[in-house]
Amino acid sequence: MGAPGNANTVHGTIKAVENDRPQAGQSWVFIDQTLGEESRNQYENGIMSAGGASYTVIENINICLFPNWLIGDCLFSPFLFFQGIRARVTITITRIPLGLQGNPFTLHDDDDDTALPRLPDLNLIQNDDAKDKNLFSWAYIRPINDGGGGKTNEQDFPFDLNTSDDEAMNPNYYTPRHQSIGANDEVYWVVYLLSIFQGPLLEDFDPNQQVGILGWCVLPGNPCGNLSILYVEQYRDPGGCRGLEPQAGVRSGLQATVAHEIGHSFGGMHKDGGIMASEEQACLKNNPQFTDITLNRIRSTRKPGG
Ligand SMILES: [Zn+2]
Repeated sequence: MGAPGNANTVHGTIKAVENDRPQAGQSWVFIDQTLGEESRNQYENGIMSAGGASYTVIENINICLFPNWLIGDCLFSPFLFFQGIRARVTITITRIPLGLQGNPFTLHDDDDDTALPRLPDLNLIQNDDAKDKNLFSWAYIRPINDGGGGKTNEQDFPFDLNTSDDEAMNPNYYTPRHQSIGANDEVYWVVYLLSIFQGPLLEDFDPNQQVGILGWCVLPGNPCGNLSILYVEQYRDPGGCRGLEPQAGVRSGLQATVAHEIGHSFGGMHKDGGIMASEEQACLKNNPQFTDITLNRIRSTRKPGG
C-alpha cells in the first residue's frame, strides 16, 4: 500500500499572484509545477494551502511553451513559461492573500485519500440462499468469499492514483495473485474482484463534469473473463453519484457494482437492464436486481472466463 496523499498532492513554490482575477473574490496563483498531462481542472474543488491559509480551487491550467494544438489543453504563454511558471491556479479568496509570492504551496484535489484500503462490499452477494442477501440465488449460485485465494484478502496492490485500462489488462497486473484461478470449474466458479482508487485519468470525474466509470470487467468481450475492478474513490466524486444522497449512493453503488461486474463475467450485458444497466446508474438504484434476461445468461454459462 503506497501513500495516496503523497501521490495525490503537489508541492511547489508560488511564483506570482494576481488578485481579483479573473473576477473579484478570486485570485490567479502562478506556480512552478506542471500539474500533469491532461490535468486541466483536475484540482477543481480541491484545496491550495499557502502562507498559513487554505483556499478553494476553482480551476487550474498548465502554462505551455508551444501552442496547445501541439501538446494539449494548456495556456500558451512563452512569456510566463520563461519566468519559470508552469501552471495557473484560480482560487477563491475571502481577503487579499498578501505576500504569497515566493511561498511554498500544497495543492490537493477533492479526492478522499482514505478511500483505500477497502474490500469489495459483498452485501448483495452474501453466502446465503435468501433472495435479498444474494442476487445470484435466482440463478442457483451461492458466492463464497475465499479472500482472493488466501486466508485473508490480498491487500498488497501498490497504490495507483489512476489505473489505466492498459495497465489493468497487462497480464502482470493480476496474474501473480491468481492463486485460485486453477480451481475455476464448471461446478465451482472463481472470479476476482479488486478495489482500486480511480480508473483512467480521463474517466475519473476530476474535474466533476468529466465522464467516469465506476467499475470494469477487465478482459474485453462477452462474457468478459473473471477479473473485475471497482473504482472506489470515484463513487464519492460528485460526478460519480450525480450528487444525490452521497453516502447512501456510495454504499448502494459499491454493492450494486460488485454484482454488476461479476454479472458481466457470466455474460450479462448493459442492454439487459436492471442491475446490468450502465454503471453510472448503479449508484442511483434502491433495489437493483438481475433481469430475467441476465439470469438466463447466467444459467446458460458454463463457467466465467471460458
Ligand atoms: Zn458494465
